[in-house]
Amino acid sequence: MTAARLSVQDLSWSPGHGTATLLQPTGFELAAGRVLGIVGPNGAGKTTLLRLLYRYYRPTTGSVHIDGEDIWGLSARTTAQRVAAVLQEQPSDFALTVGEIVALGRTPHRRGFAGNAGARDTHIINEALDLLDLHGLAGRHLGTLSGGERQRVMVARALTQEPRLLILDEPTNHLDIRHQLEVLDLIRSLPLTIVTSLHDLNLAAGVCDAILLLQSGHPIGFGPPSEVLSETAVAQAFQVVARREQLSQSNGDHLTFHLPHKGPSS
Ligand code: ADP
Repeated sequence: MTAARLSVQDLSWSPGHGTATLLQPTGFELAAGRVLGIVGPNGAGKTTLLRLLYRYYRPTTGSVHIDGEDIWGLSARTTAQRVAAVLQEQPSDFALTVGEIVALGRTPHRRGFAGNAGARDTHIINEALDLLDLHGLAGRHLGTLSGGERQRVMVARALTQEPRLLILDEPTNHLDIRHQLEVLDLIRSLPLTIVTSLHDLNLAAGVCDAILLLQSGHPIGFGPPSEVLSETAVAQAFQVVARREQLSQSNGDHLTFHLPHKGPSS
């Protein structure tokens, strides 16, 4: 696996002429192998930004460069060899088996429409099944899996794409605590550059090297979690009262929240 350098400049997006700008000009640099968390309240523009990064939306202004190459200067196929995305909407083709879905990740690397996987494809598919602990499920149909198992299948499919940049949209949604921690642990361990949206600010602070905080389509902070997730910035972005406390010497700060007109719950 190879990790990419990601460079985002002046990136903005609106759905069309005369419509609201859903992402205001945003720029940041992410070194190869780093994990960036995108956080912000519902409707802040997180999904919009991710869609711009995996070349689903064409920017209204600005650019996305991966290892110095503008993704809109590359073919869709080449982009798919650089960037993979794990989205909240999962394939509705529940009749496919886990093995078949994971194999689909090889599509951008195949020549023509040759259906059969070569030896290298098979090796990469097996590696991804191993890494996500899916060998036991390879013959199962997607529709028969739990939410957590399905999430692992989607990550495995993304990895068989051999991306340098992995985009994840709320990868911990609908997962219980153990599976949340497992997915985050995996994210941390992958030698790829990763951009992920996350709802849980404490999990985001624990797993990410950098945080981009969005509010109403505006980037209002970018940098290390301890700097960006200040009580003031979190209060402003989420319209809550936020408190940061150090729970122990070994753990970083922990954020707690309450509504402005109510005291902290005890
Ligand atoms: P988040 O992921 O932070 O919840 P989104 O990026 O999904 O936010 O959405 C930001 C805002 O843009 C929301 O108000 C949403 O309803 C709106 N929106 C998203 N996509 C479109 C679109 N294609 N056309 C019009 N409005 C959109």
